[in-house]
Amino acid sequence: MPSTAEILKSYYDALYERFGPQHWWPGETPFEVAVGAVLTQNTNWRNVEKAIGNLKREGLLDPVSLHAVPRERLAELIRPAGYYNIKADRLHNLLTVIVNDCAADVDIFLSGAVDELRQRLVSIRGVGLETADSIILYAAGKPTFVVDTYTFRMAVRHGLVFEDASYDDMKSLFENSLPADTQLFNEYHALIVRLGKEFCKKRAVCSGCPLEPFPHTVEETV
Ligand code: SF4
Repeated sequence: MPSTAEILKSYYDALYERFGPQHWWPGETPFEVAVGAVLTQNTNWRNVEKAIGNLKREGLLDPVSLHAVPRERLAELIRPAGYYNIKADRLHNLLTVIVNDCAADVDIFLSGAVDELRQRLVSIRGVGLETADSIILYAAGKPTFVVDTYTFRMAVRHGLVFEDASYDDMKSLFENSLPADTQLFNEYHALIVRLGKEFCKKRAVCSGCPLEPFPHTVEETV
């Protein structure tokens, strides 16, 4: 019987072989990636790109300029990303920490060990675990595994976790089974998102899926 580490490695190989490199995360700077991580909650990336495009066009994509934008104006600029009032608040909370606690220096904000940085991020109102881990992995370039709905869906269907597994249970499953390699974690999460969008949807499309050869059970309600 293969170990969890062997199973997860086999999944990675199958996904990579089918999909190839995903080139995540689209963003020119760590700051842009962090902003994108806040904006991408509950929307698709195309909408985030429009919102970030608005900020760029206005010359606001730096911590000091963006922090100084009145909340209503910020909400208007990021409107394409949806939930724009909530996201404007979350973004402002993040910017306040960068500007007031880190001298507006994104490198300082993203410094420190993974656990320390994660603690700093989740203590910001509106920054949840997935957003925090996305910022750590894709903006800071440090090894933390990002978990999302797609990860849960695949892992439950493949019997790797129970349905009531917590975010940190799922994160530990991957981190305890794989080497703490930033590039591996980067690619693996991106591949799972691709899998979830194309095959492991709410209504699973197992036929032709790269993980079809591995044991799985589909409950359509997952
Ligand atoms: S084989 Fe089915 S259950 Fe497994 S990942 Fe693919 S779509 Fe999801």
